[in-house]
Amino acid sequence: DLAPLRRALLSVSDKTGLVAFGRALAAKGVELLSTGGTAKALRDAGLEVRDVAEVTGFPEMMDGRVKTLHPVVHGGLLALRDNDDHVAAMETHGIGPIDLVVVNLYPFEETVAKGAEYAEVIENIDIGGPAMIRSAAKNHGFVTVVVDVEDYDAVVAELDANGGQTRYALRQRLAQTAYARTAAYDTAVSTWMAAEVGETPRRRTFGGRLAQSLRYGENPHQQAAFYVDGSGGAGVATATQHQGKALSYNNINDTDAAFELVSEFDPSDGPACAIIKHANPCGVARGATLKEAYVRAFDCDRTSAFGGIIALNQPLDAATAQEITGIFTEVVIAPGADAGAMDIFGQKKNLRLLTTGGLADPRAAGLAVRQVSGGYLVQDKDVGHVGADDLKVVTKRAPTAQELADLLFAWTVAKHVKSNAIIYVKDGATVGVGAGQMSRVDSTRIAARKAQDMAEAMGLAAPLTQGSVVASDAFFPFADGLVTAAEAGATALIQPGGSMRDDEVIAAADEAGLAMVFTSMRHFRH
Ligand code: 5GP
Repeated sequence: DLAPLRRALLSVSDKTGLVAFGRALAAKGVELLSTGGTAKALRDAGLEVRDVAEVTGFPEMMDGRVKTLHPVVHGGLLALRDNDDHVAAMETHGIGPIDLVVVNLYPFEETVAKGAEYAEVIENIDIGGPAMIRSAAKNHGFVTVVVDVEDYDAVVAELDANGGQTRYALRQRLAQTAYARTAAYDTAVSTWMAAEVGETPRRRTFGGRLAQSLRYGENPHQQAAFYVDGSGGAGVATATQHQGKALSYNNINDTDAAFELVSEFDPSDGPACAIIKHANPCGVARGATLKEAYVRAFDCDRTSAFGGIIALNQPLDAATAQEITGIFTEVVIAPGADAGAMDIFGQKKNLRLLTTGGLADPRAAGLAVRQVSGGYLVQDKDVGHVGADDLKVVTKRAPTAQELADLLFAWTVAKHVKSNAIIYVKDGATVGVGAGQMSRVDSTRIAARKAQDMAEAMGLAAPLTQGSVVASDAFFPFADGLVTAAEAGATALIQPGGSMRDDEVIAAADEAGLAMVFTSMRHFRH
């Protein structure tokens, strides 16, 4: 169970805590071996260190590409101390055991994140480091491996408690951490290269760096964590949080949904706002000002917006910030926030504010992953886009210019609503959202019903669905959904088409005087 620790090899890019750790090891009589920069840092602190180059008999060469890749190092790591053949081989070849490896790798992920050139990124792929980590971790029966600065103290405490030896339980735990690190490292390399060669769901590994341990998951009895993998641009993974408690699992999920949706609306076409609850939008709107966009999104479903997540396509200004503080909101995410807005939010300590520096690119290729029992499903992200030119008018009446603009707006929102999705839109604002129903006609009814409720709450003469347009994320299988939408006052529809009963549905639209366009593209979202 206990393994002695007599010789350590330290080779770290991140030198945080190195000297204190090296000193603690030296104080216990551990011999220190090290590579160039690490040896220098230890020596500068007055510690006695042997260069790996002296042990291997080879200098570090090829710009550091080859430093520790040598049988003297890997034999010392991999030899089974209780195997006579292994011990004999060590003696024959002059290999001394190495009982502790302390390695953190070239900062590959950071180099990619800062936007370095191809050649510089390649140079930051660590080879010898992962090799040592994997050798040491494989031989955790005898060898201790540390890849995380946070584990230095645990090793020192272990040596203190066990007279300079480590227990198997610690070595095993550290080995597991070590393989998680090398796996994530190679995944980061592969993910970066995927952007160069074109990503495909058929050649992909999964990993990422632990960005945040979460208090709990979707429910309090579930443990959870947030991993980031460097894919994707502006968004919740890379945003700066200015205030409020740490994001929860559900916050991160909803904030992502909100920001992905609002990023569909090009700021050069004007301000837009999306409010999300349980990963579905409960209001999306454009406005002449950002504040107006927020108010119009809020007016779609004031009840559901309580405790929601708000995403904006332009930097938060003071007037919008003031309006938002009128009700309880969990998170606001925007490309930026001005000083006035920051002051106003500063009064609301529980409100989380995230800024991203820009919008997400809704057309950027990427992968979507979903877990099923026993594995993962991987597909291309839904980056499908439909413009006015792609639409086919199938009714006697063609949509008016205003209807057409609203149809495209509704279609964009539909892509971000759980199926079956039905979206009523009027003048660039949702006025009814039907989400996640098992039948399309139910989604159509629910959205209309919610609009009716809002009209009553706001004291309007008629629900806002009067004179609205409707988007359906997939075809209407029967005419009943369309008839329901017409009864709610819709005048135009957008849907993929392709149902066996398209003729029936088109005839019903003509009979009700509706304009209908087909997209020939579906936006299921489950
Ligand atoms: P130092 O600052 O000590 O000169 O270099 C430390 C870094 O070198 C560590 O990040 C370690 O993982 C890496 N490293 C150690 N041996 C090798 C090797 O043989 N090849 C490469 N490419 N990197 C190595």
